[in-house]
Amino acid sequence: DQNSRFLVVTNREPIVIKGDQIKHPAGGVSQSLHRLLLKEGGIWIASRDSGGPDQLHVESSEGPGYDLERMNIPANLKSEFYEGFSNDVLWPAFHGCPEFMAPAPSFYSSYDQVNQMFARKIGKVLCTANPSVVWIHDYQLTRVALWLRKEHIPNLPPLAFFCHIPWPKKEHLTYISEHKEIIEGLLSHDLIGFQTEQDRENFLQATTSFIRNTEIRPDGMIRWNDRLIKAISMPIGVDSAMFDRMANNPRNLAKAHAILTANQLGNNARFLISVDRMDYTKGFIQRFEILRKLFSINPELRGKISLLQIAVPTRTGQKVYRNHQEKIRQGVLAINQEFGDKNWLPIISIEETLDQETLSGLYRLAEGALITSTIDGMNLVSQEFLASQHGGHGVLFLSRYTGTATILKNATAIDPLDPLQSAETIISELALPIELRRNRNLSLLEQIRQNDISHWISSLMSNISSYANIKKSLV
Ligand code: UDP
Repeated sequence: DQNSRFLVVTNREPIVIKGDQIKHPAGGVSQSLHRLLLKEGGIWIASRDSGGPDQLHVESSEGPGYDLERMNIPANLKSEFYEGFSNDVLWPAFHGCPEFMAPAPSFYSSYDQVNQMFARKIGKVLCTANPSVVWIHDYQLTRVALWLRKEHIPNLPPLAFFCHIPWPKKEHLTYISEHKEIIEGLLSHDLIGFQTEQDRENFLQATTSFIRNTEIRPDGMIRWNDRLIKAISMPIGVDSAMFDRMANNPRNLAKAHAILTANQLGNNARFLISVDRMDYTKGFIQRFEILRKLFSINPELRGKISLLQIAVPTRTGQKVYRNHQEKIRQGVLAINQEFGDKNWLPIISIEETLDQETLSGLYRLAEGALITSTIDGMNLVSQEFLASQHGGHGVLFLSRYTGTATILKNATAIDPLDPLQSAETIISELALPIELRRNRNLSLLEQIRQNDISHWISSLMSNISSYANIKKSLV
């Protein structure tokens, strides 16, 4: 549908083509946008990750489906753009981890070139389509809008950007030599969305500190030269109804039980769950320290509860990630040697990607979820866990450094940098009456519902129309 509401632009495509089969990769955000476009219709531009045609229509029984435009980016360029600038420079700097940065002089120009290719592609698509918004996603594509404006497209639709990762404080931003270029790229949109109020504030500060001719107006809008830009916080949520349905489906519970029994967690075993890509931001090493404290200060818990750790290999083309994975494996071994015995292991680590049906069943059966990120734009796993409780009493142990913690002010917060505090919190929470835990989950779930994925989308649309009204009132 050429006049539908959304033109979505992401680096990764939402499907994987294997032979004549179309599969959908696991993962939160891309799946949510995919379901939205299936229902609403629209166009999606992304770089190609597998074989198949350059263009295809992704069908749906629930709605019109959408057109996928797949870009061919030369391998060399793509690797400097993606592994290079995006993941070896922007990701660690935005997460305040300079020790994981591995910049090289040619990375930025490849990044900018690929962003320009995206802009040209959008320009072409806009010759025949008339979407009500162009919605560009995440840190890989910060410069696309800047290039798109240089194409001088008549009646350009509103340009929106969503930053899925944290926006750093000034001192971390300046780890990136090209930080001004990145900010100017973002300022080329009409609307810029961030996960939290803090991210938004950091961005406003960076803008006024580093970019000339900018001003924050009393209504919070940014003026840059002759343009007005609206920066907002619009935290992303999950499809809570879907997780509730999935976690209540006997087939998914059976899948979850199968995983448990295959890993020496019998029918009534108590376990905590963690689910993360093996990223250095997810606090694996801190998690091991928490468990070390837990089983040291409370030896009665030995043999009684385990951590089921779903550890998904990620970015394995990069050395820092391969090293980090090795450190995680050694960490698991060390804890298991220190505390485990022939009948019981403190950590059961599975290096696999599970589908969300199985995950929902595991969330439902767990005694709690252990979220230990030392920094995390949002953290969807924590929200999925609550959405899957379905009246259950599993405790969410939520790192205070996640975006989700800014939404769930009453959740059980832990500080993963303080293993003793975290371990003591786990001990006291697990001892609370089940009824109390269940009631608290119901109130947390209400907040997850109010902030769920449909709210995220409508918040985008209402902000776009209020932006249009403000602009109109100025002419
Ligand atoms: N996920 C999945 N299978 C796995 C592990 C994770 O489908 O084996 C999904 C999970 O359900 C969640 C997403 O991946 O939707 C992870 O999102 P989160 O915000 O927690 O972390 P990110 O990986 O985006 O940093």
